[in-house]
Amino acid sequence: MLPVQTLRRQLIPHRSVTLTATSLLRRLTYPNHNVVLRDAYLRMTHTAPSFVKIVEVGPRDGLQNEKKVVETAVKVELINRLAETGLSVVEATSFVSPKWVPQMADNSQVMAQIKRLPGVTYPVLTPNLKGFESALAAGATEVAIFGAASEAFSRRNINCSIDESLERFRSVMEAAQAHDIAVRGYVSCVLGCPYEGDVRPEAVARVAKRLLDMGCYEISLGDTIGVGTPESMAAMLEEVLKYIPARQLAVHCHDTYGRALVNIEAALKYDIRVVDSSVAGLGGCPYAEGATGNVATEDVVHRLNALGYSTGVNLEQLIGVGEYISQYLARPNASHVSPSVNSKL
Ligand SMILES: [Zn+2]
Repeated sequence: MLPVQTLRRQLIPHRSVTLTATSLLRRLTYPNHNVVLRDAYLRMTHTAPSFVKIVEVGPRDGLQNEKKVVETAVKVELINRLAETGLSVVEATSFVSPKWVPQMADNSQVMAQIKRLPGVTYPVLTPNLKGFESALAAGATEVAIFGAASEAFSRRNINCSIDESLERFRSVMEAAQAHDIAVRGYVSCVLGCPYEGDVRPEAVARVAKRLLDMGCYEISLGDTIGVGTPESMAAMLEEVLKYIPARQLAVHCHDTYGRALVNIEAALKYDIRVVDSSVAGLGGCPYAEGATGNVATEDVVHRLNALGYSTGVNLEQLIGVGEYISQYLARPNASHVSPSVNSKL
């Protein structure tokens, strides 16, 4: 969701528009359940065709794949600093069993300690009802669920078929509806699978549509292993767009083969205006070998700026955040723009 300040900048700089946006945002705790409000929100956030919303996934998707267990205070600092750069969505943590993902064991503490800026949402991943209930108790206002476009990936990753995995989320969706919590859906392996190889666009469209029909307000299409090309991105989107409007789709590209930015550009041509990325390129996927590398948010913002899009994100500040977490983790900063931009400063 856009901060009011961003709406003010992006839309007509008129007080009545700002007030309308403010009151709308205030009432929009649950964009997926109130269709009229949701549509009004989507219209407002997509009025400026040159605006791209970045969904920052570093603190969750990124950190959960880092070996070093990050202290809660560092996660809180990371999330707070990311939100201050102008990002309107910062995925904060995951309410998954600590047995599976020890890195996210402090999920409730993170949610309790972050400073929540107005207009910024802090979604959390909830793999099951238990996770959802913990997320709710921790004050989450938006959650995310997921499904794979590849049968083999689903079985290896969560030990059940795609249909079974979606069925398991039904209770989460019902609880979310009862508590007016917005739900985002992730589809993984949309452009290829480490076990199956090619994934058919029809398979992606089917899972994406099911998540939408279950009540997700936005579907993030993930190239989990980074094998996509602009051509395969285009073919996949052409199929998915038969069923879901562009304004409800996001792309989540990994930079494994250095193609994330060109793939994102291909998606922009199809009017996709929501892009997932991870500060300093943190993370990857523990289940897909070699799939290290969410595209770095710094690189996405830098490229979007060059293409004439606006994101509302302060790139210089963002680079500082990327340096902060890279230094803490004692890992190289995977962003391509950070070192060069820094050398010019
Ligand atoms: Zn990712």
